[in-house]
Amino acid sequence: MYDYLMVGSGLFGAVFAHEAKKAGRSVLVLERRDHVGGNVYCEEKDGIHIHKYGAHIFHTSYEDVWAYVNQFVAFNNFINSPVANYQGHLYNLPFNMNTFRELWDIVTPAQAKAIIAEQRKAIKGEPQNLEEQAISLVGTDIYTKLIKGYTEKQWGRSCTELPAFIIKRLPVRYTFDNNYFNDRYQGIPVGGYNKLIEALLDGIEVRTGVDYLKERAVYQAVARKVVYTGSIDEYFDYKLGQLEYRGLRFETERLEEENHQGVAVVNYTEREIPYTRIIEHKHFEFGTQPVTYITREYPADWHPGEEAYYPVNNDRNQKLYQQYATLVEQEKNVIFGGRLAEYKYYDMDDVIKSALERVQEELR
Ligand code: FAD
Ligand code: UDP
Repeated sequence: MYDYLMVGSGLFGAVFAHEAKKAGRSVLVLERRDHVGGNVYCEEKDGIHIHKYGAHIFHTSYEDVWAYVNQFVAFNNFINSPVANYQGHLYNLPFNMNTFRELWDIVTPAQAKAIIAEQRKAIKGEPQNLEEQAISLVGTDIYTKLIKGYTEKQWGRSCTELPAFIIKRLPVRYTFDNNYFNDRYQGIPVGGYNKLIEALLDGIEVRTGVDYLKERAVYQAVARKVVYTGSIDEYFDYKLGQLEYRGLRFETERLEEENHQGVAVVNYTEREIPYTRIIEHKHFEFGTQPVTYITREYPADWHPGEEAYYPVNNDRNQKLYQQYATLVEQEKNVIFGGRLAEYKYYDMDDVIKSALERVQEELR
């Protein structure tokens, strides 16, 4: 009899398992994919780590989380500075003085502020959806060229039907600073994310290729408690209805050239181009290999049985999630954690923080 059965070997599962083992508890990890790591897993080809489930850049302002991950792996000094391509013209991201200069040929922050102040007059009162939030932050030009098309293909919905908080993730700065994040710490694990996961799961029994929900009868009885990190509605056999997720399709290509786009991430912000971004993986680790790998990321509708990448946190889904959350309270020996089980748009550092808090509560 194990103390804990972890369902899922992503960051939530791996951190929880590591801490439980360190405290002397026995742990078994089940993972339905054929590898551990969840969405941070990378595949190595020609010495390049390919972010198989989408580009992952670690960034945090939590001192404790930064100290925690640095125990297991060193981080390089990568700073995410993506570029947006709109109809063949390039604009720096996030929205900053470089972007404003490229759009309006202005020179000073005051000039940029005046243009945006004029354009945001279109919105009166508290923004009610993503469109209003975006226009009130950066005005109509940026909304039209750099936000509307990207967002509508990313989420498969109109910007007026999406929650405002999604766009609040992006910084808006009146300085010449292309750092996509405001966080104090940022980087990519030296040697790749798999190193972090391997270190967390060191000495822990793992079974890959096992779907807990398909073998619930067998595995329910093997541990005192279950830590479940899969989708919450799937756990309950969708009995209250399906939550919506956004899917993704990745198309990866090996190119016989050293440097294809000169930056790790280029966003394609017009609606007519079906992918949202092209990732050139080698740039995350300053690779100097003679070849390169690029991945086009296509947003897609999601259907049960496919990988669920993003929760769609609109009103309808939040209400349904709350109903599932009441069922969670009745599952006394199950802990629900992570992006899918909590149905939250968590970044990696949030997931690690939440796993550390949950496991500490548990071991108290
Ligand atoms: P996951 O990594 O999804 O792990 C859950 C695991 O559980 C999976 O391996 C799954 O196979 C397994 N599982 C599910 N159901 C079962 C079952 N029934 N039986 C067995 N196993 C099961 N965060 C950042 O901080 N920076 C970024 O740049 C960033 N970029 C991202 C880009 C994309 C495209 C996506 C989708 C996410 C990104 N994130 C980023 C978020 C980050 O991926 C998550 O915060 C984090 O990986 C979530 O960890 P998790 O353990 O909750 O979930
Ligand atoms: N976004 C946009 N244009 C861009 C980049 C992002 O409109 O060039 C919007 C879009 O709505 C996206 C949100 O900002 O869903 C958050 O972007 P982020 O890069 O944080 O998304 P993630 O990396 O989580 O996919």
